[in-house]
Amino acid sequence: MDEAARGEGGTPCGASLPCPPRTARIHSLESMGTVDGPGLRFVVFFQGCAYRCLYCHNPDTWAPSGGREITLDDLLGEIRGLAGFIKKRGGVTASGGEPLLQAPFVAEFFRRLRREGFHTALDTTGMVATPEALKVLDHTSLVLMDLKGMGDTLHRRMTGRSEAASMAFADEVRRRNLPVRFRVVLVPGYTDTEENLRRIADFTAGFPAAEPLELLPFHKMGEYKWEALQQPYFLHGVSEPTEAEIARARERLRQG
Ligand code: SF4
Repeated sequence: MDEAARGEGGTPCGASLPCPPRTARIHSLESMGTVDGPGLRFVVFFQGCAYRCLYCHNPDTWAPSGGREITLDDLLGEIRGLAGFIKKRGGVTASGGEPLLQAPFVAEFFRRLRREGFHTALDTTGMVATPEALKVLDHTSLVLMDLKGMGDTLHRRMTGRSEAASMAFADEVRRRNLPVRFRVVLVPGYTDTEENLRRIADFTAGFPAAEPLELLPFHKMGEYKWEALQQPYFLHGVSEPTEAEIARARERLRQG
């Protein structure tokens, strides 16, 4: 490439740092989502996840090489076509899988979206807390953060991984005072214990910009996917929480 074809910083994209990737691997797209952030949302489900949550209803997002490739320009093009529906009272959500595993792409994706006036939400576990991953927060309007289980023992039991990275990620969200909505899946016998609920209440109280926590009842709608992938499903004998159990947990969280 001759100098004239290069950008200001000497790279093809005009930056002095390495150019962000122009493609990502995605699992799927949802053009009118209503549950992953405020208003009507375009949701990008990124492919790849390093956790193995016991209750995962999308194990088909785990393999980093699965899904399909999409370019940044194609993705932005699809979203621009829906701007009339999602720009004013909705936005764009990066979900997964785990979007932070493709953090440089997501950072550039969000940067471009915000420059065009879109609200951006990052639906994450915070499983990556590298400088690259934290850069996504520079361009994030709202963090939707799953709390898998408080304390390393329960976190490892629920996900197979330590909670250290997600706690570091959460610390950065707190330090920046970013709007954050925590989400907890209520799994009877696992995440609905007195100790876990107390720890969630204590932890989330430390975030002045936190929105009300979302308590999501565990369900088994994804169980068939585990079977299709020939993965052992460990929550087979666990019942979905009753209305009374959900109400009790909600009350416990409210008490702090
Ligand atoms: S973080 Fe999400 S996608 Fe990954 S295993 Fe857990 S529930 Fe599934």
